[in-house]
Amino acid sequence: MDFNFTTKQTEFRSTVHDFIENNWVKGAWAARSERWKAARAYESSLADGGWLTMSWPEDYGGGGATYWEQMIFNEESALANAPSGGQGADRVGPVLIIHGTDAQKQEHLPPIAQGEVMWCQGYSEPGSGSDLASLQTRATRDGDDFIINGQKIWTSGAMEADWVHILTRTDAEAPKHRGISYFMLKLDTPGITIRPISQLHDEGDSDGHGFNETFFEDVRVPAKNMIGEENRGWYVAATALDFERSGIHRMAGAISPYYRLLENAKEVNSRGRGRKISDHAPSRQALAETRIEIEVARYLGYRVTWMQASNLVPNQESSMSKMFGSELQQRTARRGISMLGLYGGLRPSDSHAPLSGEFCQYYMTTVSLTIAAGTSEIQRNIIATRGLGLPRG
Ligand SMILES: Cc1cc2nc3c(=O)[nH]c(=O)nc-3n(C[C@H](O)[C@H](O)[C@H](O)COP(=O)(O)OP(=O)(O)OC[C@H]3O[C@@H](n4cnc5c(N)ncnc54)[C@H](O)[C@@H]3O)c2cc1C
Repeated sequence: MDFNFTTKQTEFRSTVHDFIENNWVKGAWAARSERWKAARAYESSLADGGWLTMSWPEDYGGGGATYWEQMIFNEESALANAPSGGQGADRVGPVLIIHGTDAQKQEHLPPIAQGEVMWCQGYSEPGSGSDLASLQTRATRDGDDFIINGQKIWTSGAMEADWVHILTRTDAEAPKHRGISYFMLKLDTPGITIRPISQLHDEGDSDGHGFNETFFEDVRVPAKNMIGEENRGWYVAATALDFERSGIHRMAGAISPYYRLLENAKEVNSRGRGRKISDHAPSRQALAETRIEIEVARYLGYRVTWMQASNLVPNQESSMSKMFGSELQQRTARRGISMLGLYGGLRPSDSHAPLSGEFCQYYMTTVSLTIAAGTSEIQRNIIATRGLGLPRG
């Protein structure tokens, strides 16, 4: 088995690296209140550089990049802690390319490819997350329109976005997967209210929130904005979820914190007895374990890309990469906090915080990783049933 990248891929990686280095301002989203604006501005430069839709077919303004090139781009972006795209380029565009009408493609693909619009995802509801198909937000036909009533939650970025792609129930009598329709909806449509949900790591910065609850009261959406057929929206959404790629960014997200810890452990005596952290056997072992796990996560991610590039459909393999990568980040954060001792839990705003409080922030940020995009329990269910052939519980 040859794990090496080809010369062409290695050159491609260095081109990507240079682009990110020259265009992404390091620490641009250190201030949480600025992070969505920074991401939006960077999306424009990604579009200008042809990176935003690099894997779309060329006919639709894409770059026709290979799975490996997209994976390399995502990996390098995560290593630099830079965004690599958004809901428009990663979800809405690819879904429209497969299920959209010609008119929808003409209206929506160019602004996405040019980085001019920001999209958010309106799937989850207060009572429907893992069991998404139980969603209750209703869309009722009224002439050439549908009227939407209901509530979405955890709508990341809604306060900054222009459009939402949203799942609604259009047939309450049908079995739950067969009564759902998928719409594109402009967020300034009358009847939409977006309320922020603050998180622990927002640190009282009310503009820094990323989460929202989104309410829909008699919101009119033209029927022409439905993607795919009425009541077949679940299957369109399934296509969208298939675009979740190798998950390599989760592994890459642990690398920079790991190196910060390693260097700190070699240099700093934070235990007050004339010994460096690296003299402490449990800390040494934790660092070694993290290094090994990063390599395991890397190859779980590469396996997904290899399957896609070989025309195989990854299934439980994606769940393994997702689960292991997100849990790796949580373990890295926990190990960091523990190695830094009692001060490790101090926030960035505290002048006594070691490593500028980044591990406290990392710890809080990574809590949600095993919930977003399918919880660890759901991933384990997939691995158990589809991967190991065990019966459903
Ligand atoms: C950072 C982040 C960003 C998000 N962004 C968005 C967004 O932009 N748009 C959007 O629509 N949603 C978004 N979500 C919501 C996300 O998709 C849901 O939180 C997720 O699907 C879990 O749903 P839930 O929160 O309702 O938890 P639930 O489904 O209620 O789960 C609660 C607990 O029960 C467990 N559980 C549930 N079912 C099973 C089962 N069958 N077997 C074993 N255990 C089970 C879960 O693992 C979990 O521990 C985001 C979430 C996070 C954390």
